[in-house]
Amino acid sequence: MSQTFTSTNPARPSEVVATLPIHTAADVDSAVARATAAQRQWSRMPVPARAEIIAAIGGVLTQRKAELANLVSREAGKILVEAGGDVQEAIDMAHYIAGQGRNAWGTVHPCEMPNKFGFTTRHPVGVVGMITPWNFPVAIPSWKIFPALLAGNGVVIKPSEFAPQCCEEFVRACTDAGVPEGLLNVVHGFGDVGAALTVHPGVRAISFTGSVETGRKVASAAMEVGPKLVSLELGGKNAMIVMDDADLDLVVDGVLFGAFGTSGQRCTSTSRLVAHNAIVNELVTRVAERTALLQLGDPLSATTDIGPVVTQHSVERIHQMVQTAIAEGNDLVIGGAPAHIDGCEGGAFYTPTILRDTHRNSYITRNEVFGPVLAVMEIDSFDSAIETVNDCEYGLSSSIYTRDVNQAMRAVHELDTGIVYINAPTIGAEIHLPFGGNKFTGNGYREAGSRGLEQFSETKSVYIDYSGKLQKAQIDNRDAIA
Ligand code: NAD
Repeated sequence: MSQTFTSTNPARPSEVVATLPIHTAADVDSAVARATAAQRQWSRMPVPARAEIIAAIGGVLTQRKAELANLVSREAGKILVEAGGDVQEAIDMAHYIAGQGRNAWGTVHPCEMPNKFGFTTRHPVGVVGMITPWNFPVAIPSWKIFPALLAGNGVVIKPSEFAPQCCEEFVRACTDAGVPEGLLNVVHGFGDVGAALTVHPGVRAISFTGSVETGRKVASAAMEVGPKLVSLELGGKNAMIVMDDADLDLVVDGVLFGAFGTSGQRCTSTSRLVAHNAIVNELVTRVAERTALLQLGDPLSATTDIGPVVTQHSVERIHQMVQTAIAEGNDLVIGGAPAHIDGCEGGAFYTPTILRDTHRNSYITRNEVFGPVLAVMEIDSFDSAIETVNDCEYGLSSSIYTRDVNQAMRAVHELDTGIVYINAPTIGAEIHLPFGGNKFTGNGYREAGSRGLEQFSETKSVYIDYSGKLQKAQIDNRDAIA
């Protein structure tokens, strides 16, 4: 009998959501063996046939959307509309990836010699190990699993210990829709289970999403035992620039959604507000007034704007970071304290917080908080805004509010982030555009969109010579060909 752990409701930690096994290295071994055996048959199946199964998963998820959203809300603490959005992303991804099953699978090229041509095709990598965070507990597994399956791979996924049941139910939807037995496997537990998966010799590729700290460990462990393909989607310290010509009504709505939506726990959350000094006072006053009206509470209640953060430990970590910022001389505008919510005893709530007078070297502007905390910085020009945003170890998402198209387009070119928004906050990616970031946010891969298959397939170059004779390439034979 294996040991177990529980996941609990962040709003009411006494409520156990699920009890799951703590898998061992031997269980990881068995899961990889199952995936390896099933993958052979799966990779022989025509790509459009695999795509049909993925489309069917979209159908099952659509039928179960309300029930899954409720689970996301109870296990990850998201308010219901956000939890529904998490599931909807997986549905959208199923249909997008299914469509790719009838798309071009490579490129065709003329060759240097007569009666010869070349083409590229995709080849599955084999078994992919996936390690995921808790904050998009249905969407992130879908971003990884659907393209990996379409490409012909087997999968072993280790979801976060904070939202394991969401992944369990998501995978159940996949198998109910027709994913063959053994092809898609879940292993549960803590970091050591992820570590065992990372170094498993039967796992050819690791697809990791989580913090920079864990990503470093995963990448170095994988390369120790390599060769492995390792894709990393890591943290962010996303900034919103507000220029002096911006529509402040629009900005205020954008800041509230970007900074405090999902309790600031999106990798793309707006955590730095880089505001022009001509409008910063008015902007901060208006944002603070609206922040004071936000309802913190049970994520299942329709009147709640902001739910809990993921754990009590998170509350303590966020509070510690805010205290450090205040001790450094940053000015607390609003928030800055854990919150108690009636009916949610012991819930992990933190008040939405705004800090002012922060600058590029402040502790709070350089470190990812992953909570509802916004640091405001002042700038006096477009150039200083761009420099301020780019002076950061992370490079996931950024945005600029301006009515000047020249400034907007220059920002697109000059901001060193994988995602840029114009007149919108730093959150809100759509699944048919590539997702990921620069610098410490990742290692060059992208998820979703046109690049979503890259990390799960090897490119194979094929040459067909129908001349009936040996045509020597990589030899200086131009005269002979002409
Ligand atoms: P985390 O790094 O703590 O955990 C992520 C996963 O790694 C979990 O499943 C965990 O059990 C596992 N893990 C822990 N130690 C391990 C080890 N030594 N080897 C292998 N696996 C190990 O991250 P989290 O708190 O779950 O998620 C929050 C972080 O994820 C934030 O930094 C956020 O910005 C980032 N994130 C990034 C993206 C993106 O696409 N860039 C998306 C969502 C979240």
